[in-house]
Amino acid sequence: MCDYVVVGSGIIGLYTCLELLNRNVKASSITVIAEHLPGDESINYASPYAGGDFSCITDDDPATLYYDKYTYTNLKKIQLALGGPQFGLDRYTSTEYWDIKPSKEKIDSLASYLEEYKEIPSYELPSGVAFGITFLSWNFNCPFFLANVKAYLEKNGVSFRRQKLTHITQAYLTSSTKVVFNCTGLGSHKLGGVSDSNVYPTRGQVVVVKAPHIKENVMRWGEDYATYIIKRPYSSDQLILGGYMQRDNWTADTFKEETEDIIKRTTTLYPKILEKNPFGNKLEILRVVAGLRPSRHGGVRIEKELVGHDKYLIHNYGASGYGYQAGLGMASEGVRLAFLNDSKI
Ligand SMILES: Cc1cc2nc3c(=O)[nH]c(=O)nc-3n(C[C@H](O)[C@H](O)[C@H](O)COP(=O)(O)OP(=O)(O)OC[C@H]3O[C@@H](n4cnc5c(N)ncnc54)[C@H](O)[C@@H]3O)c2cc1C
Repeated sequence: MCDYVVVGSGIIGLYTCLELLNRNVKASSITVIAEHLPGDESINYASPYAGGDFSCITDDDPATLYYDKYTYTNLKKIQLALGGPQFGLDRYTSTEYWDIKPSKEKIDSLASYLEEYKEIPSYELPSGVAFGITFLSWNFNCPFFLANVKAYLEKNGVSFRRQKLTHITQAYLTSSTKVVFNCTGLGSHKLGGVSDSNVYPTRGQVVVVKAPHIKENVMRWGEDYATYIIKRPYSSDQLILGGYMQRDNWTADTFKEETEDIIKRTTTLYPKILEKNPFGNKLEILRVVAGLRPSRHGGVRIEKELVGHDKYLIHNYGASGYGYQAGLGMASEGVRLAFLNDSKI
């Protein structure tokens, strides 16, 4: 039985499977098809490279604010279903600074649901910062979390199959396939039947260091830069230092001068990284990697298409730099559309 086919095994595809189960869809009726699966690494697979935490990076349109809120308030269920924080989803305090104050809509939305939300008094803000908050965030050990969600889904009966599609109609595996979810991220740029020229990459480079003494996240958003420090849970003390937001840059290469710039910016923002470093004043660099955020002019595409007379295609891609933190809300919307006004599904 392949009633529901999810194309893509990044965070959006996996969240979509979880939302289908949440709607009491039988796990054995769900098949995931993807060129890359959890455990793989490729520049065409963004999800393993995310920092990844819940931050306040997203836009302030009502839909995105809702996807963030839905995800933040429902991650606890996923943490419990997997078996606890040791499966790669834990909680740490975040401090976020903005050089330009975010909109009232965004601040009001964040203040309404973020746990332990506090605004930092202006006299405590670093020079050049217009607004700052602290709150309790969600932190993902991204590659490990993806693998654990896949294992959970498989244990429940969801099937996974490695295949690169050249056209989205290849996802209608059998005559019983009713709905295909297109969760191909950047792949939607080239995939036949989709070929969305609005899709583009936003490249990021990160430096992973060993830092057992850091147990929180700190980030600063500027007009033309993003500096972030993210604690990776259950990772033998890895700390992710970033970063860059380079639009339309497709390169997987990493650059020494970007590494140096990231270390300079992060240790200036949060001197404790070096000052309390148990290994002296030199950081132990474990990895330097680049990843491509699947961005889209016009924002995420969550849309329903009728294919033939009784089959549906739900597009769900373009999560850019917020697939982990907004993606469960996006998946819930995609699944809602699939079931909307159709008794046959
Ligand atoms: C450096 C960096 C830091 C980030 N930090 C954060 C963070 O802190 N918090 C956060 O929320 N987000 C963060 N992100 C963003 C996050 O990683 C992305 O939003 C998310 O991974 C997008 O997931 P996706 O499932 O849409 O795409 P992907 O993870 O790219 O998955 C796409 C899937 O589709 C498959 N696919 C594509 N084309 C085809 C085809 N033709 N046939 C078959 N399969 C196909 C791929 O193989 C893959 O399985 C970060 C990203 C980067 C690069």
